[in-house]
Amino acid sequence: MTKENINWSELGFGYIPTDWRWVSNFKDGAWDEGMLSRDPNVLLNECACVIQYAQTCFEGLKAYTTEDGHIVCFRPDLNAQRMSETACRLEMPPYPEDKFVEAVREVVLANESWVPPYGSGATLYIRPNLYGINSVIGVKPATEYHFRIFVTPVGPYFKGGIRPLTLRISDFDRAAPRGTGHIKAGLNYAMSLHAIVDAHNQGFDENVYLDSATRTYLEETGGANLLFVTKDNKVVTPKSNTILKSITRRSLMVVASEYLGLGTEEREIPLSELGEFSECGLCGTAAVISPVGKIVDHGKEICFPSGMNEMGPVTRRLYDTLTGIQMGRIPAPKGWITVIK
Ligand SMILES: *Cc1c(COP(=O)(O)O)cnc(C)c1O
Repeated sequence: MTKENINWSELGFGYIPTDWRWVSNFKDGAWDEGMLSRDPNVLLNECACVIQYAQTCFEGLKAYTTEDGHIVCFRPDLNAQRMSETACRLEMPPYPEDKFVEAVREVVLANESWVPPYGSGATLYIRPNLYGINSVIGVKPATEYHFRIFVTPVGPYFKGGIRPLTLRISDFDRAAPRGTGHIKAGLNYAMSLHAIVDAHNQGFDENVYLDSATRTYLEETGGANLLFVTKDNKVVTPKSNTILKSITRRSLMVVASEYLGLGTEEREIPLSELGEFSECGLCGTAAVISPVGKIVDHGKEICFPSGMNEMGPVTRRLYDTLTGIQMGRIPAPKGWITVIK
């Protein structure tokens, strides 16, 4: 298979249309067979439910080339399951989970020339979407839907070396106590755009959101879960039913206990405990872990001992182990790797 003529290690994180995408339509109460399409554009009626009332959700996962030349995906069954849960909360028909995984396989295979080679640091980002397409003006769920999966090659996240992030404690809220913070809805991102632009304008990389009911517990950032390391090397992550169940975070907690023999805790973490941790990271599919060097709470700086130049030692071991599992250098737990080719 000849690869696209791309300088893989210089790629950024942007959209590049590839040859094929998966499309399926829901109408009259059923999903059609679905098929691969060459058309990157979507034609919608002006009154489509997704445009009027933001009835849309997404997923994000990656395919990559392993050390021994296979193309694999990391735990796509969990993305399928999470998208079903999101769909139900938004009154959308879930795309069947086995068909989701099969569609991921088909679309990656069809775009094989776009899967970055091993060692380039680049990966093929896979973006499934589900949204309501028929016209609604009175507030109600759509009756017709699109399910689509496109892929786009993305460059190494830490191009030019690792740069720990500076976060701020946000005055905005991300998720209401009985709202939609736990699902991957587009609307959660729409309302975070102002907060992120404002954070960037003030010189911060990201917002840390607190629980909106009491504003005393740490939740997550706009698009990644938080992970902390205690001074006695325990890996701790916030427990809350208004944060998104990151697949990366769940996998890292298993890596911490099963591969590194570290203690792990998922529990409520008060903002007041922030100064007691020795390391902090953000976890999500895009970067696996981004180290956090500093969190600023209204002028008060909490600086982690790992500093602003490198990953902390435990964060580094977590990162190396999980990326080693993903790239086929370290044996994976059963079911974590789906071999596509
Ligand atoms: C997608 C997402 C994450 C990361 O989840 P992964 O499954 O690890 O990619 C974290 N927080 C939010 C709000 C998200 O939307």
